[in-house]
Amino acid sequence: MWKNLRISVLLLVLALVAGQQWLDRVATQSWRDPLWVGIFPVAADGSAHTQEYVAGLSAKDFADIEAFFSREARRYGLGVTQPVHVELYPSARAVPPQLPGDAGLLSRMWWSLRLRLFAARHTSFPGHAPATVRLFVLYHDPANLERVPDSHGLQKGLVGLVHAFADPSLAGSNNLVIAHELLHAVGARDKYDPATGAPLVPLGLGDPEQQPLFPQENTEIMAGRRALSPTESEMPGSLRHVVVGPATALEIRWSRP
Ligand SMILES: [Zn+2]
Repeated sequence: MWKNLRISVLLLVLALVAGQQWLDRVATQSWRDPLWVGIFPVAADGSAHTQEYVAGLSAKDFADIEAFFSREARRYGLGVTQPVHVELYPSARAVPPQLPGDAGLLSRMWWSLRLRLFAARHTSFPGHAPATVRLFVLYHDPANLERVPDSHGLQKGLVGLVHAFADPSLAGSNNLVIAHELLHAVGARDKYDPATGAPLVPLGLGDPEQQPLFPQENTEIMAGRRALSPTESEMPGSLRHVVVGPATALEIRWSRP
């Protein structure tokens, strides 16, 4: 009898998890109302500069992201004029768990679970509506770090961890990374070669139909880099010439096959 009970409990938990994931997908891919995205800034190092930068952040620092989604949604003929609402929440007091660069599958799963638990404990603030997608943005002092660690957006748990530079001149590229990780959370996949970082052809091109094909005028958001030639690419400094390509639009249900 105990064995049957254990199996029943396990099946119930699995059904609840699957049900929640289905509800999350429906909530984030219906695109009928603005998707409520919470930015939770975190000073990731002990630098006074980073603390000051984080304390000085305001909603307008992230306005680019809303404008990008509105512009691209219009291009795909979506009914909603503002598909994404970005809300700046108070700075998280603790630093979320981070994924080691060499993590294997198991430690990645363990980290994702810990991040979701962290998000559950650190994202409710009195006077603030709960966010549907929660993005922790970890700011680093550019004086102490040349390159930030990789960022991650997870569809399971609708949560993301973004590494950014505490530098106003890099706010545009920080917003590009935030938009990229947000799109992962709503079902988009990477469109670059993990070995070289180069955009995949044709999926990672801003306009796969462009003639001549190179240099591409625009950057596909899930490629993250603009293809200049079959072997060269560059990361744009803002979301201004960045687009949601046809393959990404299909994955997030902005278009139908
Ligand atoms: Zn990615």
